[in-house]
Amino acid sequence: MKILFVVPELNPIVKVGGLGDVAGALPKALQALGHDVRLLIPDYAQIDHQRYPSHPQWSNLGVPWCGQTMPVSIDVGTLPESTVPVYYLRCPELFAQPNVGGVYLEKRVGAERILEMQRFVFFSWATSCLLPQLPWQPELVHCHDWTAAPVPTFLNVRHGRSPYATVLTIHNLQNQGVWSADEVWSWLGLTGNEHPLLALRDEWHNFNALQQGIHAADRVNTVSPHYAAEILTAAYGEHLTDDLRQRTDGIVGILNGIDVTVFDPATDPTLASTFTSATMVAGKQANRQALQATLQLPVRGPLYGFVGRLTPQKGVDLILQALPDVFRRGGQAILLGTGWPDFEQQLTDLQRAFPDHLRAIIRFDATLAQRIYAASDYFLMPSKFEPCGLGQMIAMRYGTLPIVRDTGGLHDTVTDLTRDHRHGTGFVFSEYSLAAFSAALDASLRLYDQPDTVQAVAVRAMYQDFSWTTAATHYLELYEQANTKAATARNSG
Ligand code: ADP
Repeated sequence: MKILFVVPELNPIVKVGGLGDVAGALPKALQALGHDVRLLIPDYAQIDHQRYPSHPQWSNLGVPWCGQTMPVSIDVGTLPESTVPVYYLRCPELFAQPNVGGVYLEKRVGAERILEMQRFVFFSWATSCLLPQLPWQPELVHCHDWTAAPVPTFLNVRHGRSPYATVLTIHNLQNQGVWSADEVWSWLGLTGNEHPLLALRDEWHNFNALQQGIHAADRVNTVSPHYAAEILTAAYGEHLTDDLRQRTDGIVGILNGIDVTVFDPATDPTLASTFTSATMVAGKQANRQALQATLQLPVRGPLYGFVGRLTPQKGVDLILQALPDVFRRGGQAILLGTGWPDFEQQLTDLQRAFPDHLRAIIRFDATLAQRIYAASDYFLMPSKFEPCGLGQMIAMRYGTLPIVRDTGGLHDTVTDLTRDHRHGTGFVFSEYSLAAFSAALDASLRLYDQPDTVQAVAVRAMYQDFSWTTAATHYLELYEQANTKAATARNSG
């Protein structure tokens, strides 16, 4: 099958979070199964084309935008360590303005907030306008998150009916791309009457990019079975529960994998010492000593790691509240992340209060992340909600036991040791509260005193199969269903 991924980020070329990991790994797994998969991403200023070369493929293209024709071109390169083609949509006016870094501009206010919306409405619109003109034609367009969710609607608007089957994957329901509909139509030169889908509005009567995709894509999925069920409830539905429930074909949950060739403690070149399940104890010890020496942290009791965005979703408030007690009981933590300035500040303050117990590193650093996964005893992920979560899977692959809340993909990937000591791979707590999280931390501190058990559980965690092969097979089934649906719609007039 010929498949085009339309994505806002792509590991390792330009990654922000888990969506980037998926975009960097799933196409390779699909290609390995014999499919022609290509990717389309915006050509952001921050992409290092010395490192990720590209060359012009199609130039002098134009897209109607704000009453004019926006000049656009498409360059092509390849996804590193593969032959998967990557198309870069070049439009410097939107994606490479001076002094505007980043992929998403959600931390910003004012002019940059509108720019973020314009970026991805334009990205979706340009894809819909240009794709049918290109020499290479996919059968199916796979759109990711709100940033590409309007593509199925826009294809219908531009071409009467989409020439391609479409799939929308929701990586995070919280981010929706909401704006005044009239303003969006003015960017696109539409009246809003061109297609019935354009009449859709969210609860606040706005255009909602994600809502468009939920209604217009041939199939919709999210990235774990448990999250797929959770988002049909008001507690997790982010005001789109009714829209999701209207899909009579359901919201499919396909668990993400991780790139087991990149995240492999036996070969990982970023580690001080590589290790397998047979050499895990000594290997982790060596990595821990090296990391603690680098970070000037004295070697003490159990080491807790965290790598992630510093946002309320990730349970950072619980981490901030719970860690002092862990430190008083001899534990240590290394936390790596960026996000809400308040959280960044509070973590820095906590490090100042516990200099022998905590390192809070406020930056994005893929190498350091891998070192933290390898060196830690436990990995913290007390998320409020978690569509899938990759951190817990990466941690397990490095023999680090995750401490997670029982939500979304965390529910699907971690088995609680206190309830099932024969199959347990970590600690799972239910209620989003300091008491519940502290009880899980307490259990982990007690387990640390039984090194043989820790070792047995860590080996079990390392043997979990998180490769992409299973997920790729499920995606192919979903693509077939989308193709059938699109063909039926075409045949029925
Ligand atoms: P989300 O997609 O919600 O951000 P996931 O757990 O699905 O969370 O994926 C996050 C990915 O991004 C993981 O691969 C994690 O290691 C990585 N990551 C997050 N923050 C950082 C950081 N500051 N430095 C390096 N890697 C990071």
